[in-house]
Order: sequence, then C-alpha cells, then structure tokens
Amino acid sequence: MKRTHHCNELRAAHIGRSATLSGWVHSRRDLGGLIFIDIRDREGRTQTVFDPSKLPADLFNRASSLRSECVVSVSGLVRARPAGTNNPKIPTGEIEIAADALEVLNMAEPLPFPVDDPETARTVNEELRLQYRYLDLRRPEMLRNLRIRSKVATATRYYFDEQGFLEVETPTLFKSTPEGAREFLVPSRLHPACFYALPQSPQQFKQILMVGGIEKYFQLARCYRDEDLRADRQPEFTQIDLEMSFIEREDIYTLIEGLLKRIWKTALGLDIPTPFPRLCFQDALNRFGADKPDTRYGLELTDFTEEFRASKFKVFSGAIAAGGVVKALNAKGLADATQGQIETMTEYAKSLGAKGLAYIKVENGEWKSPIVKFFNDAEKAALAAKLKIEEGDLILFAADQWLNACEILGKIRLYCADVLKARGKLALDPNRFDFLWVVDFPLLAFDKEQNRWYSSHHPFTAPVAEDIPLLTADPKKVRGQHYDIVVNGVELGGGSIRIHQPEVQKLVFEQVLQIPPDMVKARFGYMLEAFRYGAPPHGGIALGFDRLMAILCGAPSIRDVIAFPKTAKGTDLMTDSPAGVEARQLRELHLEIKAVKKE
Ligand code: ASP
Repeated sequence: MKRTHHCNELRAAHIGRSATLSGWVHSRRDLGGLIFIDIRDREGRTQTVFDPSKLPADLFNRASSLRSECVVSVSGLVRARPAGTNNPKIPTGEIEIAADALEVLNMAEPLPFPVDDPETARTVNEELRLQYRYLDLRRPEMLRNLRIRSKVATATRYYFDEQGFLEVETPTLFKSTPEGAREFLVPSRLHPACFYALPQSPQQFKQILMVGGIEKYFQLARCYRDEDLRADRQPEFTQIDLEMSFIEREDIYTLIEGLLKRIWKTALGLDIPTPFPRLCFQDALNRFGADKPDTRYGLELTDFTEEFRASKFKVFSGAIAAGGVVKALNAKGLADATQGQIETMTEYAKSLGAKGLAYIKVENGEWKSPIVKFFNDAEKAALAAKLKIEEGDLILFAADQWLNACEILGKIRLYCADVLKARGKLALDPNRFDFLWVVDFPLLAFDKEQNRWYSSHHPFTAPVAEDIPLLTADPKKVRGQHYDIVVNGVELGGGSIRIHQPEVQKLVFEQVLQIPPDMVKARFGYMLEAFRYGAPPHGGIALGFDRLMAILCGAPSIRDVIAFPKTAKGTDLMTDSPAGVEARQLRELHLEIKAVKKE
C-alpha cells in the first residue's frame, strides 16, 4: 500500500476518488459502532472511518486495536462528511476516507506524553520532551519551527550565491587559541599530549580564506563554546558566518540588510524597511543603558550629572566627584510598584556593584522618598522638568561610573517594561521588528582584576584608522571598526573590519593585549605570517542562526528551534551524553582520569 496523497491534501474536489494515506494515528474515536481514526503526517491530518457493517471482521478488529501514534496505511474512497460534521479547523475538514484496507506498519506503546494536543503539550515538562525528542518533534509546532529553519537556511544560501559568495567549509578540529570563551578540547591519539580544539567560530579560517583570495566566503557554521550555560545558550550552535575582501563597514551593512529583508519575507511574509537606523555605542548606553537596546518603547535614561555635581546628597555628588555620573529613569505609572518589585530592581543594581537603589514614588501629589529631603529646589525643579514628572510616576536613579550607571538603569528599564507589559500598560505588536546597527564601539575595555586591556570584540578587529596612534598612547580612546546588528533588544550578530597589516596585528597582540611574544607566535604565528604574503583588507560578520530562528518562530527558547538541543547543564537527555568511556579508549588517547567527583 503506497501512499497516494499526504494527509493535508484531500479536499472536496477529491470526493469519489480512492486514496491511500500513511502516517501516525493521531486520534481514535469510537462512535455509534464506527471507528474514526485521524491519520497524521508531516503535512497535516485526515479523518478515516471504519464501518463494521462494510468491513471484514479481522480488518475492523485491527482498526479497533490501534492506539495513538501507531504507524498505518489506510486506503479507501474519499467522501463528503455527513452534513453538520465538517471540521472547519482543519483544511481536510470537509472530507473523510471510508476505509476499505488497513496495513499496520508498526504499533506504538503508550506514550510518555501526548503529542496530539498543543494545549497539553505546552504543559509537558521540558526534560521529558528532550528525553523523548522524537515524540516532541512530531508536534506540529516543532515541525513548523524546523520547516521555517530549513526555508531560512535555503534562502540564505540563495542570497549569498546571488551576491557572489562561495560556501566554504572550515575545520571542526582546530587548535586552542584561548582568547575568548572556553573551548572544547579533543585529545589526539596520534600525537600524545596534544589536543585539537573545537572552533568558537571560524574567525581565523575565514580571514585566512581572504588571504587565500576567496574574496567572498560564507558558511552556516557550527561553533562550540564550553561556557557555563546561561539561559538560552547552547554549547554548540550555528552561525551565518561571512567574510569579504576590499570592503568597508557600509558594504557589510547593505549586505546584511538585504539578507534580513529576504529572510523576514521568506519566514514571515513581512517587508522590513531598510536601511536600518544606526546608533553609536555611547548613545545606546546613554539613552537605553544597553549596547543592544530595545527601541520599541521609550523609558529612556536622563543624565543629571551637572545638576547634582554640588548636591548636598553625598551619594550623588560623591559619585560625580569620583569621576562618575548620575542618571535617572522615569518608569511612568509605576509608583504603585510592589515592595517585591522594588527589591528585584535593587538586586539588579547591587549585582552591578551599587550599594542600593535610590528612587522616588510620586503619589497623592507627593514625592515619597527618603532622599528627597536632601535635594534643593533647583535640583527638584530640574528633575521635574527633564523627567516630566507626573502623578503615579516612579523615578529610579543610578550614581556610579558612566558604564555601570547606564547598565544598572538599562537592566531596570527592561524590568520595568516587563512589569508594564504584564499589567497591560505596554503592548508591543508581535509583528514589529526594530532593527538597528550599533556602531563605534571602543576597541578595548579594561579588566581591573587582571589590570590589562582586552578586546571588546576580538583581537582581530581593526581600530578606526586615525585612532591607530592612540593604541599605545591612550587605548581607551581607540574606536574599533566593529558593528552589531540588534533587533528588539536582542543582539543578532556582530562583526568588524579586520586588521590586515601584520605589524598592527602584532602590536595589538603584544603591546596592547600584553600577550607574551612566544605565546603570540605559538597561537597566532601562522596568521601573522600569512598576512606578510599579501593580505587584502577585509571584514565580516556572524549572525547567531539559532537566536534568529527563535525570533522568527516566536519561540520562547532557542531549544525550540534546534532539533536536538542540550539542556542548560550541557547534557543530551535522549542519548545520555556526555558519558564515560572505556579504559582502553583513554589509554589510546594517552589520558588518565585522576578523580571523578560524584554529584
Ligand atoms: N567571529 C565573530 C563571532 O563569532 C564574528 C565576526 O567577527 O565575524 O562573534
């Protein structure tokens, strides 16, 4: 019995024809002596009817022994459903198949959780879903995500092909070059005590491809980072990765805007306007307290450094005297925030090093706050005017070094937006996508604990040309040719124009980042050498493909757009990985396990 149609194909036009469907038993209902079986495949479902008065007893008995998720083929005549029994919820709802043959291809045991009802499925514990991922993937919601993912991957490949890019695969077995996240190591059997590392990204290979004259490279690249997993991170993930020669930043912006336009049209049928707005890093922090601002709503930060420079309120004037700033945020209409909500916001402030959180509640025409008594009239007037203070407002302050003060209020801003959303006071259209480029990042950031500069992006990012002399003279002033693409407060990706002059790259490694010369030689010697044989100017970007898909699918977690994701602890519950290996395997790899700490 070979299938003639898929389970979302038969319509009224097929009435009177015979058909054979194959798929899973989605549901079975016994009604008035008849058995109704909905058969489901990847495309949808169709109702079949088994009538004992028209069928041999053994066939009918086989039908009645079926349970959910058995695999079957059913043949019969397509007919209209009896008047009044149409199901308008499904596209095949006008017809049914009067079964005259049944082949049971496989039986199914009772399921650990039902897959036929989206409402129930939503309540199933995620660990159970991950353990029985093959069942979870049968749910139409999951199938839909994988389908969109495949379509977007194909659209991406077409787009880059049209733009003259070559898809080039780069090695998965690479070498350890620890300069960013922690890497996964792979021991070598043939080279005792030597290790490969899984790439965090194909960064170095794609730059070498430019030296190799490829000019335009792209790849849907698997990347690996052995980090403690934060929510919504995966130890292995996919990037849309690309690199181009003889270009400037503007070329990357235009290319990626074109790609995202194509992707949004493909996945959602939406026309997104381009070019995207640009915001420099400084403004993004000053206004939104984040380098990936969600610009779909206001709640912007306001600066009060000048107004409080000589304030009697020492928490503010003291922070300013120490080179810091005072910033405030008016959470409109949140004066009635609960004690718990204020505590959560205070915790955010404390997690970024603040001692507490200063705030004012504007209630019954009064500014309720322990700090207001320290403010003079001019300070109060400045607050009222610049923050447009009204009844019902909640004003929140941060007084700290610039970046910290911005980031504290940035976190609080997101939290206030969530509270407003939950109260129905802030509604965001699910079809609204605020794209923007964040540009002009500082090339370097300072690590106080290690007392050294590190790259804000990665060590291959080029400084803005006129800032090169500042690299050793005043590193904090050097701007990097780095850009991030952001949508609705999510960083979709980032990239940069790269250093292509070997002497500048060497200077960055050794003098700016203070990596000892012998280590530079061991880790990056081949790159510096490659650059000596004619490296074209080049740059690129990588977009997080899983995150992109989660946004397009409206999925709450990136795990919902990955067929076989890991848990937050980095485990695969279906295959039970990672797992121990045999002593023989360890011996071959010249490894010995010293001690295993039992959990
Ligand atoms: N390789 C970088 C990353 O993974 C992106 C880039 O600079 O192209 O973040």
